[in-house]
Amino acid sequence: PTMAHSKALLVLENFIGGKFVPCSSYIDSYNPSTGDVYCRVPDSGKEEVEAAVKAAKDAFPIWSSKSPLERSQILNKLADLIEHDLEAFAQAESKDQGKTITFARTVDIPRAVHNFRFFASSILHHVTECTEMPAMGCVHYTSRAPVGVAGLISPWNLPLYLLTWKIAPAIACGNTVVAKPSEMTSVTAWMMCKLLEKAGVPSGVVNVVFGTGAKAGEALVCHPDVPLISFTGSTLTAQRITEKSAPHCKRLSLELGGKNPAIVFDDADLSQCIPATVRSSFANQGEICLCTSRIFVQRGIYSEFLKRFVAEAKKWKTGNPSDPTIDVGALISKEHLEKVRNYVKKAQAEGARVLCGEGVDPLALPPGNQKGYFMLPTVISEVKDESCCMQEEIFGPVTCVVAFDTEEEVIQRANGVKYGLAATVWSGSVGRVHRVAHRLQSGLVWTNCWLVRDLNLPFGGMKASGIGREGGKDSYEFFTEVKTITIKH
Ligand code: NAD
Repeated sequence: PTMAHSKALLVLENFIGGKFVPCSSYIDSYNPSTGDVYCRVPDSGKEEVEAAVKAAKDAFPIWSSKSPLERSQILNKLADLIEHDLEAFAQAESKDQGKTITFARTVDIPRAVHNFRFFASSILHHVTECTEMPAMGCVHYTSRAPVGVAGLISPWNLPLYLLTWKIAPAIACGNTVVAKPSEMTSVTAWMMCKLLEKAGVPSGVVNVVFGTGAKAGEALVCHPDVPLISFTGSTLTAQRITEKSAPHCKRLSLELGGKNPAIVFDDADLSQCIPATVRSSFANQGEICLCTSRIFVQRGIYSEFLKRFVAEAKKWKTGNPSDPTIDVGALISKEHLEKVRNYVKKAQAEGARVLCGEGVDPLALPPGNQKGYFMLPTVISEVKDESCCMQEEIFGPVTCVVAFDTEEEVIQRANGVKYGLAATVWSGSVGRVHRVAHRLQSGLVWTNCWLVRDLNLPFGGMKASGIGREGGKDSYEFFTEVKTITIKH
């Protein structure tokens, strides 16, 4: 067939040692909003990972000996180049992931740019420790050095955003990397590779190997020359990674799932709380690890809250993600949509009430999107704490609203899940928000707001939500090896 016939399909290639290299086999990646194949992704395995790790190892001596200022300038240049192509990146992210173009334009890509700028700046400002022991005639100081080749594995929900949240600190600290994005959302990582040379990133410093978790991901995790793995994804995969990396005693950073509560006390400002909680439940189709999926509302305001919350949720428009007026795009895959729908069915079977969305309201889609993986924002009430909808991460546009009576009770119930990533507390009482925030088992607690982040501060989860933290200082510590040196004079 000639090119004139078929609409040329995008075919991605691995990026190894500064060059794009084809792979012997490929897998299809879909556009979730149409159900059509969008691109072909290399189905890499051991061989490709081996080549990428070798390239990263070879590049390490030169890159790690550059000054922080030199690396900082390169990171800033890369940020500028991505920003220059922001619209193309946003279009690709929306097509590949199903998210709305508005979200990709205002959240995903700007944050990817910011990740590079943030670490370009933060790497210049770290201070190491020094102590003195005059009686012994000694001073001690610490020094930090990059670790080596970092293995970076990222999920499909915020593709470039989360991948750059790892690449930026890893290379700012002087490591070289082999990254493996999700096989379902690889396009923006591949686009970024095209900018590396122009930004001044030397060959082999950033290598990207595309493919599945089972083949490419595991080959990276098991590689003896990759001493650290930064992973964001599901708790189940993290268990497998921990197991597989254990024989090598690798350093792991694991950012995992959540079952995040919002607690709404009767003195909350509902005019702020309701739109923010609708957003925290349904932003990016509910496919953000920080999304709220259990809303505890104090009894006295429960009916009013529920009425206003459902009315607000119904205003969110679901449809073609490339339409800038749309609020809810497509879910990542057919299988994932089925999984999310099944949770709603199970809740109904247990006697819960579905107040809007799935199975209750009609979903009208434009002709081009009939085969897309869409679902309306769905609100469930009268659901028991033990129900799987209140215990398991659904990772879709589904949220549960339940009533509570006392502060003590709600803390126990909010903590009554295996996860501990992010919680929100809504109350006008400063004393109460402090008290409750201290007792929640959660790596992040937002009070009277959601998703306001200062990248300097630690990000990560407790319990099954993860191990380790990422952020200005935390990422610096993760991506460097510290040494204590003692000098006797
Ligand atoms: P996933 O665990 O299925 O996949 C994540 C990545 O790991 C992908 O690149 C995948 O290919 C790879 N992978 C899969 N099996 C592997 C293996 N055996 N060895 C090595 N790599 C492997 O997760 P997902 O479905 O892509 O993402 C959704 C999950 O990510 C949700 O649970 C969500 O909460 C979580 N998440 C967490 C955060 C956070 O910061 N805490 C952020 C975003 C998403």
